[in-house]
Amino acid sequence: MQEHRDNVLAARATVIATATLGAITGFMLGCVLAIPLAEAHLQKYLERVAVQENASVIEAHDLLNVMQHSAYAPCSDDELSYFREIVFRSEYMKDAGRVRGSRIECSATAGRPSQPIGFFKAGATKADGTIAYSNLAPLHHQTLQGLGLQQGGVFVVFGSHLPVVVGSLPIHLAVLPADERAPAPAPNASTPSPLSQPDDNVTRTGDTLVAEHCSAIRGRCVTASVSVGEARQDELIPIAGTSLLFAITGVFAGIILCFLRRRSHALDQQLRRALAEEKLKLVYQPIVDLATKKIVGAEALARWTTNDGVSVSPDVFIRTAEEHGFVGSVTNLVLRRALKEFREPLRSIPDFRLSINVAASDLIDPEFLPMLDEVVKGAKVPPGSLAFEVTERSAADCDDALESIRLLRRRGHHISIDDFGTGYSNLSYLLYLSADTIKIDKAFIRAIGTESVTVAILPQIIAMARSLNLCVVVEGIESENQANYFPTDKIRIYGQGWLYGRPMPAFEFFRLLGIAVDEPAPAIEAGAVDSAVNRGRSQGTIAPVLAP
Ligand code: C2E
Ligand code: MG
Ligand code: MG
Repeated sequence: MQEHRDNVLAARATVIATATLGAITGFMLGCVLAIPLAEAHLQKYLERVAVQENASVIEAHDLLNVMQHSAYAPCSDDELSYFREIVFRSEYMKDAGRVRGSRIECSATAGRPSQPIGFFKAGATKADGTIAYSNLAPLHHQTLQGLGLQQGGVFVVFGSHLPVVVGSLPIHLAVLPADERAPAPAPNASTPSPLSQPDDNVTRTGDTLVAEHCSAIRGRCVTASVSVGEARQDELIPIAGTSLLFAITGVFAGIILCFLRRRSHALDQQLRRALAEEKLKLVYQPIVDLATKKIVGAEALARWTTNDGVSVSPDVFIRTAEEHGFVGSVTNLVLRRALKEFREPLRSIPDFRLSINVAASDLIDPEFLPMLDEVVKGAKVPPGSLAFEVTERSAADCDDALESIRLLRRRGHHISIDDFGTGYSNLSYLLYLSADTIKIDKAFIRAIGTESVTVAILPQIIAMARSLNLCVVVEGIESENQANYFPTDKIRIYGQGWLYGRPMPAFEFFRLLGIAVDEPAPAIEAGAVDSAVNRGRSQGTIAPVLAP
C-alpha cells in the first residue's frame, strides 16, 4: 500500500518536473526567438523605407526629364500651371520650378516671387548631370524630409513621409543627416546607382536592437530601433504559447517516462522473483566442427517465461539484470544449472566444451571467481571443459576485468570473444585479453552472398586468427551456402547456427550426443519453442555422437 502510494507520488513528481522543465524551456525559447523576430520586423520596415525612397528618386528623374522639354515659355503662367499639375498628380513631388544659379526663379508653390528665393547650397553634380540640394524648397513641414534635384534649369522638390509602422512592435524612428555616416562613393567608382539598397544588419547596443538605412541621394539615415524588453513584450502571446506547448510536451514525456520506469521496474521485480524461484531455464545450442559436422560443444543460453506465459528475450532480461545490478545472480543460476544438467557429458566426453555467457560486471565482481571455483569443484568437471564467452567491450579499459580473464585462463578455462567484429575488433588486443577463441558475429555471416563490404573482411579475420593461433567459431550459420563459404581443408573452423540445431533443452541435446536419458517432464517447457522449431527445422547433418 505504502509502496503504491510512493509510486503515485513519484509519478506525479516526475510529471510536474518534466512539465515545469518543458514550460521553462518553452519560455526561454520564446524569449530567445523574440529577438530574431524583432530584428526581422526592423529589417522589413527599413526595406519599405528603401523602396519608397527609390520610387521617389525614379519619379523625380522622370519628371525632371519631362519638365526640361516643357513646351511653354519659361516661368510663364502656362508653365506654372503645368508644373502645378505635375506636382498635383505626383505621389512624391512637393514642388517643381525653374532655378538659376541656386536661386529659384519660379515654382509651383511659390509662383513667380518678386524677389528671387535663394541661395541654396548645391551639392556635387552627378554623372547624369543632376545636382542635389539638401534644402531647396520653400516648403517647411516638420515631418517632411525634402530633397531637391536640379537638372538643366528645372528643379523638383520631393519628400516622403516615413512609411507607417505596421504591426504592434513599437519601432522608434530617427532621421539623421547622412554626413559622414553615409559611405562616400569611391572616387573612381563607376557611376553609382541613385537607388539605395536596404542595409541588412541589425546591431544590438546594450538592450536595444538598432537597424539603420542610409541613402546617399537623400543624404539621410533612417534609424529604426526597439528595446529587447519591448520585443519580448510584443511576442508575449507566442512566448506563452511556446511555454504551454512545451509544458504539454513535458507532461507527455513525464507520463512516458513513468510508464517506461514502471515497466522496467515491473520487469526487474518479476525477474528477481523468477531468479529467487529458480524459474529461469537453460537451452543448449550445438557447436560443430565445420569439416566433420561433429558436435564439439554447446553454448548455454538462458530462457525466461514470465508467469503470464510471456517469453522474454535474453537480450531484454539480461540487459534489465545488468541495468539493475543483479546479472551476477543470473550467471550464478546459469552456471549451477548448466553444470548440473551437463555434468555427465562434460565428465565423459573428452574435449567437449560448454560455453557460458558472462557479463562485464561478472568479471569485476569479487564473488564471481570463488563462486565459479565452488561450482566447478562440486560438479567435478575438468576446468578445460568450460569456456566463458565475453564481449570485447566487457574487458575494454578495465584492468580488473582483464585480471579476471587471466585468472580464468590460469585455472584452465577457455575464453571466447563473443560477437567478434561488433566491438574493437582488434585481433592483437585479443592476445592481450588472453582469449583463445573468437566467435565471429552473425552479422558477418548474414552478409555472405551479398555485395556488402562486411563480408569482404571475413577472410582477413580468419587469416589473422589463424596466425595468432586462435580458434574460430562462426555464429549464426543458417544455410549450407553460408557453411560452405568457410574453407575447412587448411584450418579448423567451428560453426553454430540453426543449420546444425536450434537451442534445445539438455535432454534433447543428449539424444543428439547419443546419451540415453529420460525426458524430464518440467524441462520440456524450458526450451519448448526452440526445441519444437529445432525438430522441424534443423537441416544440417550432424554426427550423432561426438567421437571420444
Ligand atoms: P549470444 O551469446 O551471441 O548467443 C547467440 C544468439 O544467437 C542466441 O540468441 C541464439 O539463439 C542466436 N542464434 C544461434 N544461431 C542462430 C542462427 O542461425 N540465426 C540467428 N538469427 N540466431 C541464432 P539468444 O538465445 O536470443 O541470446 C541472445 C543473447 O543474450 C546472447 O547472444 C547472449 O549475449 C545473451 N545471453 C543469453 N543467455 C545468456 C546468459 O545466460 N548470460 C548472459 N550474460 N547472457 C546471455
Ligand atoms: Mg554467446
Ligand atoms: Mg554471439
